This record gives sequence, structure tokens and C-alpha cells, in this order.
Amino acid sequence: MRCPFCAHDDSQVKDSRPTEDSTSIRRRRQCSSCGARFTTFERVQLREVTVIKSGDRRQPFDRGKLEQSISLACRKRDIAHERIDQLVSGIQRQVETAGEAEIASQRIGEMVMDGLRQIDSVAYIRFASVYRDFSEARDFEEFASTVQEAANERA
Ligand SMILES: [Zn+2]
Repeated sequence: MRCPFCAHDDSQVKDSRPTEDSTSIRRRRQCSSCGARFTTFERVQLREVTVIKSGDRRQPFDRGKLEQSISLACRKRDIAHERIDQLVSGIQRQVETAGEAEIASQRIGEMVMDGLRQIDSVAYIRFASVYRDFSEARDFEEFASTVQEAANERA
């Protein structure tokens, strides 16, 4: 595993243990060149899925990127990391078990919004406002009332 600090190609595993829900293995590593410590996670990947983005660009599905964008939306909200991890795992499972080799990034965005909506309305709005293009004020009004409804349902 390449060191994220100095890009040296070799690191040593110092410790290896399953995560709490046993869906992944957490490894503590140390770079054999600069000595920096970092953590990697090993997870089951059921199949390779390609994500189709706007402009027909294609990219392999990347759990890390998905987790990053969800974490960003949840920043400074009182949401347990476990909750985010569950959401990411749930979406990954949906993507990998859908039986398709390709999936539209839009579809994944919808899964994220569905999930965030149940967790935190602020995180949901943040994600949705980045994800969707609110060029028209009217769209945003419709969207805001949807969020309000969701908030009411939860109350
Ligand atoms: Zn290093």
C-alpha cells in the first residue's frame, strides 16, 4: 500500500482487526520510508460497477468518493460516523447487487438523498443543493417544501 504522505510504495501492517460490524478489516500501517502511520480498510466488493456521469464520462464506482461526499454534507452535524458508514455500505450494496454493470451517477445521488433525508434534514439540503442544479427559484421552492414535509413526517 502506497504511503499517502511520501508516496513510498511499501508499508508494514502493524495491526489488523475487524471493524465493529465485521463488514471490513481495519489495518494500521506504517510507512517503511518516512515512518508515517495510516489506516486502511479492506472490504468485500461483490462486483465491479461503472458509474456513468454527465457528458457520458465513465468511472469505476468508488466507495471512498461516495463516503467523502456524504461526510462533507454531514460536516459539523451531530451524526455518528457509524450512521454515515451504514448509509455508505447500504448504497454500495444496492449498487453492487443491482445486477447492472453500469449505473447512472444520478441514480446514486438519489440513493444518497433518500438516505440523508432520514438522517438529517440539513445534511440532506446541503447534499441536494450541490447535487441538483437550482437555477430556477421555483425549483428551489418546490424542493424546500419537500424538505419541510420530510421534517414534519419525522416530528
Ligand atoms: Zn511515507
